[in-house]
Amino acid sequence: MLDRDIVAEYKLDHDFLSEIYSLPGGHEIKKCIQCGTCSSSCPLSYVMDHGPRKIFSLIRAGFRDEVLRSNTIWYCSSCYTCSVRCPKNIKITDVMYALKRLAVAEGKTKGKKAVVLSRNFARMVNTYGRNHETELMMRYILEAEPHHAFKFLPQGWLLFSNRRLPLLPHRIKNIQQLRKILKKVDELGEI
Ligand code: SF4
Ligand code: SF4
Repeated sequence: MLDRDIVAEYKLDHDFLSEIYSLPGGHEIKKCIQCGTCSSSCPLSYVMDHGPRKIFSLIRAGFRDEVLRSNTIWYCSSCYTCSVRCPKNIKITDVMYALKRLAVAEGKTKGKKAVVLSRNFARMVNTYGRNHETELMMRYILEAEPHHAFKFLPQGWLLFSNRRLPLLPHRIKNIQQLRKILKKVDELGEI
């Protein structure tokens, strides 16, 4: 049952559901029986604003802002546990990706640290063809947590001393081919 205060606070968008239906994997939401298997299986639902089951319920009810501004889509680690266990074979992880794209497109990512991490990770892959952990960590700290930079020092040192933070990046061979693939996927709107 949705809380009355939430209903009063958020403007409902009754076209939201049909818009979600048109996204990759989105049309499958209509098959959801609200069994809750996804939320109870999700290893990160305890930190999410709403579990995946509730996200689908909110989509159906037209809570566009509540869904797109929630931390749920950014905490989703794409582990696919929910998708594997869903009795209706709904591709929940794909829907989470689609919601991320929509949130970015609508500028509803303010204050989301996971977005900073995600954007810089994509930049690493575009530049080197793979992640460069050291640069990613530096970019994330400077952009998302500049006032808490020192708190990362012990963790950074531990990783560095265990050779988990290489100083120099390694660019893969044939990076141009990878960029062509990423560009094509981006055009298709699949990620
Ligand atoms: S497991 Fe599937 S059917 Fe059940 S609530 Fe989640 S999405 Fe809906
Ligand atoms: S794919 Fe995302 S939503 Fe699904 S169980 Fe994993 S973390 Fe949770």
